[in-house]
Order: sequence, then structure tokens, then C-alpha cells
Amino acid sequence: MKFSLASAQAGRRWSLWALLVALLVALLGLLVWLAGRYESSLVQNRLEHDAADAVIDIRSGLIRNIQTFQALPSSERMPESWHLSAAGLLRERREVVRLEWRNGAMEVLGFVDTPYRSAVFERLGRSSLEADVGLACTTAARLSGAAYSRSYFMPQFDGMGIEVLDMCLPIVVAGRLSGYTVVTYALQDILAELVGKQLVRGVGLSFTEADGTRLALHGAPSRGRQVYVAQQLLDLPGNTLVLRMESRLGTPALFPNVLTALVTAMALALLAVLFLLARDMRRRLKVEEDLGEALAFRKAMENSVLTGLRARDLQGRITYVNPAFCSMVGVEAKELLNQSLPSPYWPPELAGDYQQRQEIRLAGNTLPREGHESVFMRRDGTRFPVLIMEAPLINAVGKHTGWMSAILDVSERRRIEEVSRASQDRLQATARLAMVGEMASLLSHELNQPLAAISSYATGSLNLLQDALDSAGAPATAAHPEPHLSEELQLAMRRIAEQAERAGKVIKSVHDFVRRRDQVRETVAPRVLLDAVMPLVSLQARKLGVRLVIEVDPACAPVLCDPVMVEQVLLNLSRNGMQAMQGVDEAPGAQGASSRSAKVLTLRIRPAASNARSRWVEFAVSDCGEGISEQVARQLFTPFFTTKEEGMGLGLSLCRTVIEQHGGFLGYEAVQPRGTIFSFTLPVALRPNDLQEPGHGTD
Ligand code: ADP
Repeated sequence: MKFSLASAQAGRRWSLWALLVALLVALLGLLVWLAGRYESSLVQNRLEHDAADAVIDIRSGLIRNIQTFQALPSSERMPESWHLSAAGLLRERREVVRLEWRNGAMEVLGFVDTPYRSAVFERLGRSSLEADVGLACTTAARLSGAAYSRSYFMPQFDGMGIEVLDMCLPIVVAGRLSGYTVVTYALQDILAELVGKQLVRGVGLSFTEADGTRLALHGAPSRGRQVYVAQQLLDLPGNTLVLRMESRLGTPALFPNVLTALVTAMALALLAVLFLLARDMRRRLKVEEDLGEALAFRKAMENSVLTGLRARDLQGRITYVNPAFCSMVGVEAKELLNQSLPSPYWPPELAGDYQQRQEIRLAGNTLPREGHESVFMRRDGTRFPVLIMEAPLINAVGKHTGWMSAILDVSERRRIEEVSRASQDRLQATARLAMVGEMASLLSHELNQPLAAISSYATGSLNLLQDALDSAGAPATAAHPEPHLSEELQLAMRRIAEQAERAGKVIKSVHDFVRRRDQVRETVAPRVLLDAVMPLVSLQARKLGVRLVIEVDPACAPVLCDPVMVEQVLLNLSRNGMQAMQGVDEAPGAQGASSRSAKVLTLRIRPAASNARSRWVEFAVSDCGEGISEQVARQLFTPFFTTKEEGMGLGLSLCRTVIEQHGGFLGYEAVQPRGTIFSFTLPVALRPNDLQEPGHGTD
């Protein structure tokens, strides 16, 4: 679903881009086309203009000629001089190929051919054209001015031919028509001679008929698909010609002028910018995606950690908190962000101290990296201890912008420490109680004999006194005291015997009280016994630099014992082992680190015999200490024997008593290369099945 949404978005983005590019290309194409068209229209306009100018040139040239020819017959009356003048005129006017002087009856009085060509009418003769000339002259006579004939083609001897046109000019002398001057023009030469040279350059000039038939041409005709053409009418009396001007520029180039080139260059630049923009956009998108991913990763990380995170700016305002922090103090993030001091999670009674600490921090004093302890308050008002670690917050350009704090709720840790301390106190109290009990037991044992002796001596003394009283009547002597004295002595003795007996009873009751613990028996898994003492053992191990190794055989069955007393035994043996290894550390020749690393205390629990159905479980505590010398071994279990300065010497004797009361056995062995292993056994708790069918158990 997410994927299809993303692909739809990408598709839309691409189609937008395609549309933009298409629009831009169309716009640029239009611009280039418009620029080209503008250029074409400029060329066309110029051509039209030039064509009009050319027509004006031709017309004015022809008028000039008319004026010149009008002057001719009037000034030169004689045929010879006419010839001379006419020949001179023909040399000056190359467009004229023949000049004729005719009388009123159209008879040729004289003619001159241009010196620049072979005689035009030589091949076909002039007579075939008389009708045209006559028509022109009739028109001229009627108009009293120059009139032109239709143009006609005159083949020449060289296989070519020229298109010529006659102009008839009536000669009027003293208001009377006396004849005609007939001027034959070569159309091609009219174009070459009468049109201004600057207009002819680069164009093809031609005379055509109305239907487009080309009559004469000057310059090269243009070829190509797109040729600029301008046409102008040359309206002459008696004839109308079409002047056609063709631009030799031909098809306009792709970039006909600077404007188009500029537009194109700009268009290209625009395309390049578009391309760069697209690339930049793509890169930005990529960076955006990467950033998004990094942000999501960071968010997931912040949300998953249990450590509270809090960022503050230099004014002490909170700028960021993670969900762990919010749930720790029970306040919503929006209630914390951008709030000024005091913070809602500061206990009111401590707010002053915290404010002071904040001021110290703001003054630029660095805080310890290992953190400091503090107390925060939840929304419900309960206080809890926290450990705060702070580090300066440095932004991307290396500027110090605030403080980042990691906050740990240490209330659980405190609770565990408290529980551990309480259990240690309890165990120590139990140990002391057990010791007192042991002492009481020992005292009772030791005092029983003297008390029994006192009792029997008192009984003996009483018997003796009784004998003396029985021999009454004898006079009182030193050997036989007075009877009343004997009675008193007898009473005293009886009292002594009674008191001794009473003391014996008291002691027995104390002894019984101490022994009554024997009755406490529970079924416990061996591992549970070990776990109960582990906090204390590991505490001491850490203090003394001892490594603990625990090996518990899972095949061990639960044992029947007084857990408190057995825990005491385990604790005692472990402590003795660890203390024995302390001496090793200081022993001469011991190598610091290696001897230190050799301080290993192994606590092992396994069935006493190799078979799994063993009725006994063996607990062993082995150390790598100094071992037990022969001298110590002799008194090891003797009460009050100790080699330690602060020792009581009751531990081992108490341990043995406890184990023996359980029916087990406590002993020790030396360990090679050094150390001692103390081990004891405890009975496996028998299940009802085991009791009913001894030897047929199914465990
Ligand atoms: P205490 O520990 O108060 O001295 P104990 O009865 O527990 O009393 O121990 C008696 C003595 O036995 C100790 O002082 C010590 O010399 C010796 N001893 C006990 N356990 C060990 C041991 N694991 N290695 C060497 N000596 C030991």
C-alpha cells in the first residue's frame, strides 16, 4: 500500500516534469519560429521595398530617355547629323538596341543599331513587327506622347534571343505630327542599366507577363524551396509589365539573425538551468530521504531506550525530552517543552538547591562526567532518586547551545541495595544467634558435670549428717557438733542439692531450647540455598578481589534441611575460603597479578555418589588459599580456636554441629597445588513414594 502510494507520487512527479519540459520546449520552439518569421517578414518587406524602388528607377530612366529622344529630331534636322546624334545616344544608353526615325507614314527615314550588340532585327527582319510598331505609334499619336508596344522575342544568330519592346514617340513640329522616333529597348538591358546598382545586388530581377511567363532576366534566379519574391507592376502606356524580384538569400538560416540566436541561446541556457534544477532536486530528494531515514532511526532509538533524555538550552529551558523521561516523571512532553524554571518535576523543598546548581552550570562550570545524584518528583508527588549525566550540546557549527542529560531512575537499584543490606543484617543476626545458641549448648554441656558433682557431693554430705543425727545422745564434741547445728547444716545441704538440681534443669531447658531448632526441616532445592547467600558472598568476593565459580549439577534432588542454618554453613565456609586466599596475596614470592587472578572460590553442588538416585547431596567450597597446616588441623573443629585476630573460632565447630544434626558429614581435604576444599552432605528429601516402596523409586 505504502509502496504503491510512493510509486504513484513518483509517477506524478515525473509526469509534472515531463509536462514542464514539453511546455518549455514548445515555448522555445514557438520563440524560435516567431523570431524566424519576423526575420522573414523583414526580408520580404525589404524586397518589396526594393522592387518598388526598382520600378521607380525603371520608370524614371524611361522618362529620362523620352526627354532625351524628344530633343533629338527637333535639334537634328538633317539625316547625317541625326545619325551622329543617335549613334552618340546609343553609346550612352545601353538599354536601347535600335533607334529609328520614321516619317508620318511610318517609313523608316533612318536607323541606328546599338554598337554593343549585333543588329537585333538582322535575323528575322523588321517588317514582321511593323503591325506592333504601327499600333504603338497610333497610340502615341493619339496620346501625343510616348507609347509602348507589346514585348516580343527576337531570335538571334547565336541561337539565343532577346525580348525587346518598342517605344514610339511622336515628333511634333510646330503643333503638327511630322514623324516618329521608334526606340527599341532590350528588356534585359533595361533591368541591367536602369535599376540602381545597389538594388540589383544579391537579387534576381526579371520581367514577367501577368501569367508568370518570364520575359527577361537579370542576375541569377534563386533556387530552393523558400525563395523571397516581390512583384511590382510597371505600368507603361500601351503595355504593362510585371517586375519580379527574387531574393538570393533563399531559405533563411536556422539562426537568421542575432535576435534568434539570442533567443536560442537563452532557451538553451534555460534548458541547462532546468537540467541543473532537476539534478539539484533529485539530490535534495535523496538527501531528504536519507535524512528521513536517519530521523526515523534516531526516533526509534530514542523511543526504545529506558534512559530518560533531556536537552536544555543555555537559559535552562527544556528543548527536548524522550518518552522514557516523560514516563519517568509522569508529565507530558508538551508541558515540559520551553517551560522556564523551576521544572514541574523538581520537589518544591529542593527547588532552591537545583536552581543554584543550574546557575553554576550556566556560569560555564563543567559538571562531572560520571554524573550526580538527584531527586525528582512524579506528578503524584512521589519522590524518586535519579542519576544525571550531563554533557554540553554542541551544534553543527561547533557552537555551545545547551546541555544534554541522560537520566537514570535508580530507585530500583536503591531498593535492591536496601533489601541486600537487610538480608545481610538478618543473616548476621542469625549467625550471632546461632553462635549464642552454640555457646549456650557448650556451656550447658560443660556446666552439667560440675552441677552433677555439686549435687552428688551435697547428697553425700546430707547422708553423713543423717548418720551423725542418728547417733544422738552423745555429748557434743568437736567431731560431733551440736544436733541443732547438724539440722541446720542438713537443711543447707538440701538447699544446695535443690539449687544444683534446679540449675541443671535450667541449663537443660536452655539446651533443649537451642536444640529445638532441629525440628525445623524443609524441602529446599540446593540451588535456592546457594542463591540465598549469593548476594553476601559476591559482595565480599568483590571486596576481596575473588572470582566466584558456581557449578550446580541440575540432577540434584531437593534436600531436607533447616535452610537458615545451612545457609549459615555455606556462608561461613565461603568466608573462611576467601579469607584464606587473602594471605596468599601478601605471601612472599606471590606474583601480584597472577596470584590475584588465581583467587578463585568454587561453590559446587552435586549428588554425593555418581548415581543419580543418590540419597545425599554434596556441597563443596574450594579455595586456592594457604591450606591448613598440621598444627591447625589438630584443633580445627575445637570451639574458640582461631588464627585470626578478630576471629571467634566458633564457625567450623558450629558448622559441623549443624551438619551432624542433619545427619550429614562435614570434612575437608587439601587441594593441589594449594588450597582447601570443605565439603558437607545433606539428605535428599524423600517423597511419599520413596518411603512406601524403598528400592522401587522411579525418580
Ligand atoms: P574463625 O573463622 O572465627 O577463625 P573458624 O572456626 O571458622 O573460626 O576457623 C578456625 C580456623 O580454621 C581459622 O582461624 C583458620 O585458621 C582455619 N581455617 C578455616 N577454614 C580454612 C580454610 N579454608 N583454609 C585455611 N584455614 C582455614
